[in-house]
This record gives sequence, structure tokens and C-alpha cells, in this order.
Amino acid sequence: MAESIRVTFLGGLGEIGRNCLALEQDGRIVVVDAGLMFPEPTMYGVDIILPDFRWLIERKDRVDAIILTHGHEDHTGSLRYLVKDVNVPIYGAPLTLGFARHRLSEAKVAGDLTFIEVADGERRKIGPFDVEFIAVTHSVPSAHALAFHTKVGIVVHSGDFKLDLTPIDGRRTDVNRLAALGDEGVALLLSDSTNAEEPGFTLSEASVGAVLRRLFLERPQRRMVVACFASHIHRIQQIANAAHETGRKIAFMGRSMEANVKLARKLHQLRLDSADIIDVENIDRFKPGEVCVICTGSQGEPLAVLSRLSRGDARNFKVGADDTVILSSHPIPGNEWSVGRVIDDLHREATEVIDSSQEPVHASGHARQGELRTFQQLVRPSNFVPIHGEYRHMVHHAELAVSMGLSPKHVLICEDGDQIEVSPKGLRRTGKVPAGFHYIDGSSSDFDERPLEERRMLAEYGVLMISAGVDQEGAKLASPVSVTARGWFEGSSDTEVLVNLTSAVRNALHEAIAEGNFNADSLSKVAQRAAGRLLGQKYRRQPVIMTAVVVV
Ligand SMILES: [Zn+2]
Ligand SMILES: [Zn+2]
Repeated sequence: MAESIRVTFLGGLGEIGRNCLALEQDGRIVVVDAGLMFPEPTMYGVDIILPDFRWLIERKDRVDAIILTHGHEDHTGSLRYLVKDVNVPIYGAPLTLGFARHRLSEAKVAGDLTFIEVADGERRKIGPFDVEFIAVTHSVPSAHALAFHTKVGIVVHSGDFKLDLTPIDGRRTDVNRLAALGDEGVALLLSDSTNAEEPGFTLSEASVGAVLRRLFLERPQRRMVVACFASHIHRIQQIANAAHETGRKIAFMGRSMEANVKLARKLHQLRLDSADIIDVENIDRFKPGEVCVICTGSQGEPLAVLSRLSRGDARNFKVGADDTVILSSHPIPGNEWSVGRVIDDLHREATEVIDSSQEPVHASGHARQGELRTFQQLVRPSNFVPIHGEYRHMVHHAELAVSMGLSPKHVLICEDGDQIEVSPKGLRRTGKVPAGFHYIDGSSSDFDERPLEERRMLAEYGVLMISAGVDQEGAKLASPVSVTARGWFEGSSDTEVLVNLTSAVRNALHEAIAEGNFNADSLSKVAQRAAGRLLGQKYRRQPVIMTAVVVV
């Protein structure tokens, strides 16, 4: 077989979240990212969703490392599950590893893991690969694109990126290096598709700072409460700057906010004057116009600080008519409803609320079409696979690459589970591995689609309980058929359904008994089928049906 490398996509292609892929050369494997995804509202009881790691675990002896592109949960959040089976060195920038290590130690799995810090521009031998870490701008500091120097040429993984020319920390995307790699010859580009539908260029993060400063200045008497992602250190820096410049002390609220601020200050990636920081308990010692609160909960998460503030059940501090709450964020699709609830509740407290629909208090961390085109032009790949996006994002990204001159033969739209091979001949799909959703609920158990289907039926149609006793000797029902429902309305229409159900089940059982059926299991099924048929055909309902027929 000719020289080739293989890429296996385990998550993130077809959804925003649970990013994970494996790169393979000479039988050795390097994993890039191990992220999680948050559930949709109809995934009842699900806390998080992981990639299916079975394919990797079966090959754990061949895995040399896990490389993290940056510190977001959709790239690092499933590490704690993966490292239980695949304990290999974890590479990343100091801040990226700091965030990851914090969550791993919360989950008590950081103990015997090896973390290897890398700097911008550094090149490392990792397994059979020569890996280069390239600075890119994103909504968390220290994000990296990766370049794998392989035997078939260079593979560039963009990571999550935007091309911010005025980043808060002055660390720009290393376009010079990307262009140099393009000169050397990039065999495959894997690139972030999140904003591939959006024309133009993403706003610079710095633009948000100017807006915040103006909003703070316009409200000298008001306490400013700003919610943002706890990992968005540059946003936190800008909120803190606005507070400092308008004479406000800063109080941080939220466990992850406090932990991340502490880590980022230690790494000198967040510059705050200790004299500006106060404890939340001391807020009331200051006039409202002298305080800025920076907190979590910008996505309406029910347990985060902003939700608790909106319901009036945060400790130490209540918001009211003296406060202006800024949601320095954009709701992730699926979170709009919860964010709306929080904003409503804040209005009930007579609090002023400003979000990204009224003022440009947020900038995305992902490249739009203009930047994606620029990236393609810098890297000039021979082959391209869009990653990190819902299906339509990847389609748009593929079209963009073709419009830049790449032949459609060299562009492949892949999905989770797809395996591709890159060789001097080009790009081809070679197989499929299991890559379904792995659901995790509160008890940390992981399960597949089946119980969720049942939870959806329970939530939508409730549950029906049918019981009956059969007298084998007398060949008749020993007791009346009993049908009860939970989660049903108690009006007369439901009563009618229950009456009809009872007689349908009774008739079906009579028939079965007449045919000499005295098997309890089989009679239970008869009852279940009779009820299911009536409900489905006549009433269009699909409750979960539980039957118990006892033969005496
Ligand atoms: Zn990200
Ligand atoms: Zn991401």
C-alpha cells in the first residue's frame, strides 16, 4: 500500500460540540480534542453528551497523546471520561491545560495524568508525528491551530479561530506561519465551519470593550452586572477595564468564574489591580454606581449566578432597580428560551437588561466567510474537509473552498464516524466507526438512545398502567381489568378514553382466554397490543404502557 495517513472523526462533524478526531500514521494514533456537547431541551434528564470512545478504547495501546487546541468545553469536556481508559500525555497551552486540569481534579481523575505544556510556534515530536502549535485568535486565550508534518505532507487543523487583528492580548493569528506552511505544501486542511454561513468578517473582540465603556459611562449611578462565559478571559479583562475606568470595584460571582480568574491572573493572562477587587459579601458597603459584578449564567443556565440573581436567591446580593444587567454573550441555539426566562425575571425586579440584540456587547469567536477565505488562501490545501459545525455549516464551508478554486474532487463533507485516508493520490472515505451520542445523566451513567425515546414518550403522553387477573380453571377474568393513567388531563375526554380502553383490553383478554391462552406474559402482550392499537388509531396517543396480567 502506498504511503497514507488516516483521520477518524469521532465528534463535532454535524453538531456544535463533542469535538474529537484521531490522526493515524504507521499504526500510531494521536487524538485531537475530547469535547462534550450540551443536550437539547427534549433530551430529558441528560446532563451532557460525549463522543462514543469505543473505537479509541479498543486501540488504546496505539494512542500516543491527546492534543487540546484550546480550553473550551466542546474541546476538553469529555477528557475526564476518556482518560479513565486512555491515559496518555495531554498536550496544550498552559491556560488550556490549566482549565482542563481544574475540571479533571474536580472529577478526581487528574492524579496520575501527564500534562505537557507547549508554547506558540513550538514544534514537538508526538508519536510518529511532528506537530506544530500555531497561535490563533478565538474567544478564549491561547488557542492553537495544529500543523502535523506527516509522510504525505502537512495536515493543518485550524482549531476554533477568527482572524482578529486587534486582539486584547496582542497575540494575533500567525498568518505568516500559515502562509509558509502553504508554501511547503498542505496535503489536508481541516477547518472550523461554525460561521461558514455568515458573510463578511467577525467583529474584533476589542469592539466590545468600547461599547461596554460607553454603557458604563452613561450610567454613573448604577451598579453594572455583566454576565459572560467564565473562560472568556479577554471579555472579563474588558469588563474589568470598563469598571476600573468608571471608578467601580469588581466582584466576581460563580464558581467557574472565580477559578478561571484566579488561574488566568496566575498565568498573567488577566491583568487586574487587587485594589479593584472586592468580596461579594461587601457589595453593600459601596454605592451602586461604585460596583461592577462579573458573573456566570449568560446562557440562562438554571444553576448559574445570573439565573439565581434573577430569581432573587443568590447569597449576599440581590439585583433591583439600581442595577443594569448586561448579557455579554449570544444565546447558543437551544438556550434562547432559558435566556428569555432570566431576562423576564430580571424585569420583574425592575432591573434594566441589555443584551446583544440591543447593543453590540458580544463578538463571536469564530471566523466568518471573509476570514475562512483568507485562511484557505494562506494555507492553499490540496484537500479539504470542513469540521466543527452542523451539517449545513460544513456544506457552506465546502462550497466556499470550491469557490476558492479547489476541485470538488478534493473536498469531502464528512460526518461523525467517517474515516478518511490521505495519500499522494488524494482524499478518500475508507470506512465508518461507531460515533453515536453517549448520554450522561446526573448519576454519571452513560446510555444510548433507547431510554431517551421512552422519556420523550413519558413526557409527551404520560404512562398507562393496565392490570388484570385471569382464572385458568374457570377460563375467565378473575378480577375486573384496571386501567390507570399518569400525566393525563383529568377531564371527561380522558375518562372516556379510559372507559374505552378498559373494554378493549377486556374483550381482547376474553378472546385470548377463549382460545386457551393462559400464559401470563403472552396475555400481558395481548392487553398491551389492544390498548396500543386503540390509542394509536383512535386517539393518536403513544403513552408508555405497562401491563401486568396474573394467571391464578
Ligand atoms: Zn472554542
Ligand atoms: Zn469549539
